[in-house]
Amino acid sequence: MSLRTKFMLALLLTGLAAVAMVGVLAYAGMTKRVDGIRREQAAEHFHAAVTDYLKPYGSWQASPGKQGFDAFMAVRPHPGDRPPPPQPGEDRRPPPERRGEPPFHFILADADFRVLLGAGVYRSGEPLPDAARKDARPVMVAGRIAAYVSPEGVITPSREEQQYLAAMREALWFGGSVAALLALALGVLLSRELGRSLGHLTGAVRAMHGGSLLQRVPVEGKDEVAELAVAFNAMSERLARTHEELNASHQTILAQTEQMRELSVRDALTKLHNRRHFDEQACTLFSHAARHKRPMSVVIGDIDFFKRINDQFSHATDDAVLRQIGEILRSHMRLSDLVARYGGEEFVMALPETELPQAAALCDKLRALIESFPWHQLHPELKVTISMGVCADVASGTAEAMLQKADALLYRAKETGRNRICFAA
Ligand code: GH3
Ligand code: MG
Ligand code: MG
Repeated sequence: MSLRTKFMLALLLTGLAAVAMVGVLAYAGMTKRVDGIRREQAAEHFHAAVTDYLKPYGSWQASPGKQGFDAFMAVRPHPGDRPPPPQPGEDRRPPPERRGEPPFHFILADADFRVLLGAGVYRSGEPLPDAARKDARPVMVAGRIAAYVSPEGVITPSREEQQYLAAMREALWFGGSVAALLALALGVLLSRELGRSLGHLTGAVRAMHGGSLLQRVPVEGKDEVAELAVAFNAMSERLARTHEELNASHQTILAQTEQMRELSVRDALTKLHNRRHFDEQACTLFSHAARHKRPMSVVIGDIDFFKRINDQFSHATDDAVLRQIGEILRSHMRLSDLVARYGGEEFVMALPETELPQAAALCDKLRALIESFPWHQLHPELKVTISMGVCADVASGTAEAMLQKADALLYRAKETGRNRICFAA
């Protein structure tokens, strides 16, 4: 059952219970009060009637008894009957429904508490029980007790009074129905309001669950739901902010990790890969080439007479030469090629899918580019050349073995005059 239905039912039941309780209490109270008034009036009337009736006789026994009393009562007006002023020749007897059938029945006993009129409760002549004697009221005639009237009689509401009570019941039913309708309408209104506020919160929680943490729900009024909405908005804002901060720090960590990784595989001066990275990657490239019987070339280059450059020029010039050669090598390699600074002024390259002639041609091109580079811009007397050894013998067994062969060829290039390429299949 939804909260809205529960809320409406609760309101409806509370409303109905309240109306029923108030109605029943009011009805019972009014009925009791009306009965009391009527009983008092009737007792007063009956007592007065008995007193008036006995006055001329002195006692019940001296009177014509029940017949005479009934005849006397039949013409005696009932209290509450308010006749209009008498018209000439008008019959002033009480209305027919009052005559001979009084709405109240009282017990009449003589001075010795023997029942004279039993009202259908006691037989004539039997002694009145003590319980009834307690509330019996004496009828005084000529200064002495002529009879007793007991208020313990049977009350029979008159037709008018019954109509009055029925009208009251109807009014209570009507009031109850109106109250129920009002409670229902109020329930619909309030539960719609509550349902709307809770609907906003539910939607926002679902959206947060879906990943969008920054949610704002409207804050209406000052009740507990409004307080919940304020707390929810604050929580959502804080969560979103914390999430953003976490994200930012995660990105920083990722960037720093990447930077560290790059630093660990790069040479700081030339920005080429370093020897450790080359050794790892060259192994992988070699395994791939050997397994798939693909060509691969390994090159080692060494700057000619770098010691002389070192001695002749400044340290900054040496670094600039190394950086520039690194730049020339990198900018003429394929993305799949691996180039690294192997140490000091030595450079290595692993060229996958490259046969010896292509590798030799590439190296000669690089050699020519380095030779023809305008080094004089760094220093007027600066000249730089490089020698290289190229090995394309995948059958050597390992990348390291290929590198050793390339190194031997480099040695030959140095031996045979430098600024040249030596290669072997
Ligand atoms: P060649 O290779 O032509 O036989 O002559 P070389 O003078 O270059 O001799 P070699 O390669 O044997 O020696 C390299 C010298 O280069 C040693 C050192 O003085 C210098 N050198 C090596 N690495 C560096 C470096 O990283 N920075 C600087 N400034 N000098 C270096
Ligand atoms: Mg060297
Ligand atoms: Mg050298």
